[in-house]
Amino acid sequence: MMTGQVALVTGASRGIGQAIALKLAAEGVFVVATATSEAGAAGTVAAIEAAGGNACALKLDVTNSVEVEALFKKIMAEQGRLDILVNNAGITKDGLMMRMKDADWDMVLDTNLKGAFNCLREASKIMTKARYGRIINISSVVGEMGNAGQVNYCASKAGLFGMTKSAARELAKRTITVNAVAPGFIETDMTAVLPEKGREALLQSIPMERLGTVDDVANAVKFLASTESGYITGQVLSVNGGMYM
Ligand code: NAP
Repeated sequence: MMTGQVALVTGASRGIGQAIALKLAAEGVFVVATATSEAGAAGTVAAIEAAGGNACALKLDVTNSVEVEALFKKIMAEQGRLDILVNNAGITKDGLMMRMKDADWDMVLDTNLKGAFNCLREASKIMTKARYGRIINISSVVGEMGNAGQVNYCASKAGLFGMTKSAARELAKRTITVNAVAPGFIETDMTAVLPEKGREALLQSIPMERLGTVDDVANAVKFLASTESGYITGQVLSVNGGMYM
């Protein structure tokens, strides 16, 4: 159990982020669940509270560094500590490279990579003072292997690996670990848009012959967020049913 600890989970309104928030709360962690609207995150908080856990819902657009800074100040003012950061917020704006618009590149990099950096920077200040922390960045299997039609998304997710390893080196002596989790294809809103034909081809490329569940990912995050994972830093934990080894 991680009773008494405080976690910030970005993009916690649905999908993987929601599952992570629920999983950490079940471990006794107070979860600050954020999404682009407070109402979006409130659903997750209601589910946590219904299960007997503790959480609060706050609005956070991770691309806005002023908003990010203010949110971390608020967490410290209200909770007095921050032990765990899960950088989960992410978007896709898929399209073939030749036709990709500047805005689609910028929005994906701003959200998935710079957004994670904005939160990492603030968390590192708090955790350095406390000499303890667990930071988990949610990347993707396609950041490891590439994917046609996702040059922006794959660049952002591959960027998270370099950021994770550099931050791990900077923060290791303060007992702060920084790791990435790279999910394969997981059943969420993000993959619900896959056409049936693409889905069949995808299943053939996964040795376990199924998409992942949000709990498959949340369980990996729970471990990296725990005190038991203290000697693991700068790593990529792939949760992909063997799709990429
Ligand atoms: P999802 O269901 O589409 O949920 C995305 C979450 O990110 C939502 O909570 C959304 O909040 C939030 N978000 C989007 N833009 C944001 C911003 N600017 N600031 C703050 N929050 C923002 O996605 P998912 O499938 O659960 O994916 C979660 C993470 O896992 C992402 O980083 C994704 O890239 C990664 N991932 C997913 C898969 C997969 O197969 N699903 C595979 C590998 C990696 P709102 O509700 O307010 O929009």
